[in-house]
Amino acid sequence: MSEVEHYLAPDSLEQALDCLQAGEVTILAGGTDLTPQTQAGRIRFKPTLMNIRRVPELAGIARDGDSIRIGALATMTEIMENALVREHFPVLVEACRHVASDQIRNAGTVGGNLANASPACDTAIPLLVLGACVELASKPAGSVSVRSVPLTEFFVGPGKTCRQPNELLTGVRIPLPAAGHVAQFHKFGTRVGLDISTISIGIGGTLRDGALSNVRVAFGAVAPTPVRAALTEAALEGTKLDAASIARIAEVARDEVKPIDDVRASAWYRKEMIHNMTKRMLDHVAEA
Ligand SMILES: Cc1cc2nc3c(=O)[nH]c(=O)nc-3n(C[C@H](O)[C@H](O)[C@H](O)COP(=O)(O)OP(=O)(O)OC[C@H]3O[C@@H](n4cnc5c(N)ncnc54)[C@H](O)[C@@H]3O)c2cc1C
Repeated sequence: MSEVEHYLAPDSLEQALDCLQAGEVTILAGGTDLTPQTQAGRIRFKPTLMNIRRVPELAGIARDGDSIRIGALATMTEIMENALVREHFPVLVEACRHVASDQIRNAGTVGGNLANASPACDTAIPLLVLGACVELASKPAGSVSVRSVPLTEFFVGPGKTCRQPNELLTGVRIPLPAAGHVAQFHKFGTRVGLDISTISIGIGGTLRDGALSNVRVAFGAVAPTPVRAALTEAALEGTKLDAASIARIAEVARDEVKPIDDVRASAWYRKEMIHNMTKRMLDHVAEA
């Protein structure tokens, strides 16, 4: 583990961005990824460790026009307990419920979960299904600038995002879904509790007359990043859900994913799980 030379805990966004602009900073939120990763030697601390927990602009969950903004510091527990999220995005509540344990959910933030960019990141799946964007703030020339990046473009590889070193992930913005929108999340791990996803699936769309439209499908732990599944979405879009079409769509899903073998499961097993769980989830949608 490398030495931290400076510890900073800014109490405003501007201060935090000034610090990032100065360079060589490790950002600390809940520490539930960072601590084990630095202790295992997978990540080396930069000379400055910046604790962002006192930055008020990163907190809170609020409605803003036709979307809801979740501050980067919102913990899994806060998200699960928030009335707006429970009303509009039950699929996100479901995913947070499947993250780790109470202790981790009380400390782990949505910003940290996304910035860590694990292929098995659980909040990314419902957020992809809901069409979310992340906000990235920086202060390159003396004033704060914020860009909005669709989550589909945010992840670029395992542990890698398009966030620049001088940028802070300040929040996630989710458009309010259309009337009739339904969404489901399913996570499969090898243990019942405290497990990282072996595979995860999110499916969402507007349900009318037994068919989904404006479909989004996302898979976790089957590619270098959480991914949308374009072929599965196309097969599902506008298709009347019955036993034959569900069987066909589940096969498209199995053929679309290109997982790897690792300690949690073989590629073959993951493909079979994607097939079986897609079928089961679509059966539930068809029965609704
Ligand atoms: C036992 C255990 C079980 C776990 N189970 C799950 C699970 O089931 N599902 C799951 O998805 N995750 C799981 N995790 C991972 C972890 O808990 C989550 O990813 C958590 O949300 C990380 O948030 P954090 O606030 O603790 O991030 P931190 O550890 O503080 O930071 C994580 C990374 O993101 C960066 N970062 C943090 N905030 C920002 C920001 N606002 N802007 C830019 N960069 C930032 C940090 O520099 C660091 O690189 C588990 C972890 C443990 C230890």
